[in-house]
Amino acid sequence: MKFTAGRYYIHASEEKAPLVENVLSHLTGISGWAKTVTCEKTKEAVISACVEEGKKIYAQGIKTFKIDARRTDKSFPLSSYELCCMAGDAVTNAVSGLEVNIHNPQDVIKIEIREKAFVYSGGKKGFGGLPVGTAGRGMLLLSGGIDSPVAGFLMAVRGMNIDAIHFHAYPYTSLEAKQKVIRLAEITGAYCMGIRLHILNFTQAQMRIKERSPFPWTTIMLRMAMMEAAEIAAQRSKCKCLITGESLSQVASQTIENLNCTQSRIKLPVLRPLIGFSKESIIREATRIGTFETSIQPYQDCCTLFSPPHPVLYGDVKEANALYEKLELKVLIEQALQEQELVKV
Ligand code: ATP
Ligand code: MG
Repeated sequence: MKFTAGRYYIHASEEKAPLVENVLSHLTGISGWAKTVTCEKTKEAVISACVEEGKKIYAQGIKTFKIDARRTDKSFPLSSYELCCMAGDAVTNAVSGLEVNIHNPQDVIKIEIREKAFVYSGGKKGFGGLPVGTAGRGMLLLSGGIDSPVAGFLMAVRGMNIDAIHFHAYPYTSLEAKQKVIRLAEITGAYCMGIRLHILNFTQAQMRIKERSPFPWTTIMLRMAMMEAAEIAAQRSKCKCLITGESLSQVASQTIENLNCTQSRIKLPVLRPLIGFSKESIIREATRIGTFETSIQPYQDCCTLFSPPHPVLYGDVKEANALYEKLELKVLIEQALQEQELVKV
């Protein structure tokens, strides 16, 4: 790999190219990438490379194109405009059926005259943002749903390394449900150089909540317990924040009052990148990053296990804490943490 101002060049053999393309298509912190041909810095070589590129895109079904030339090496004998005209003519003459459309082309053949000459088409847009690893580490609360993988992805795009924590209630929830979450961590992990997934069995804690708290409060109690466990795991894994897929008023546990209850016992900041997103835009993102199809597989999450038909909608923080203390969950949470399964994806 070589680096010059604004560009990385990666040399890959034809057989390794798909692997490199797969990595690049998941990489945060780049504005775009393209598979390029390198050629000599002569008019003939550049134009001939453009003709080959024209044949390639025509074979892919492209009917209209334009040439876009950039010349950082001003000693090249043609101006960018002249190069565009000559290469455009050469391509249309060589590939009948492929026509120039300046304003709305299906593809653009790009020429860059730098320390070498580069010719490419089909440039891909990157995710932008910042490279993963530049913004610390966060602990993502990863359920099997649609929202939390998207939340993790959005923080990865801001440069964060991700650990994830998942709570299940086996044998009340299935092993398939756990596999589904591992799969979601794998897909999301492709955007953040892998994820360390902490898997905790929360059955004992959930049973305690069911026994000791008023039924309408059980979801809030469970969320408070998850936050408490996630904070301890985060501190032990050098994470500087928690991340959730919560979105304001999406469900009863996500009213502003209940969000206040949920986070009231912990000190780490809770990042909620989806807080103002509609469900439609979350689904659009989930589809784009490839998690949606896995998220909608119908396995039960531990949250839905004992969920009350009439949950508290506007919980009072003081009341929530008084109820929570009666649960005496510390030992059970520590036990779940000690017995956690750690999966590196
Ligand atoms: P999602 O699609 O992320 O599951 P949701 O709309 O189903 O979101 P909730 O079930 O209320 O919302 O969960 C809110 C957030 O709490 C999730 O986005 C996730 O960050 C966290 N969470 C919920 N269940 C779990 C779980 N079993 N393990 C870890 N985190 C969870
Ligand atoms: Mg959920």
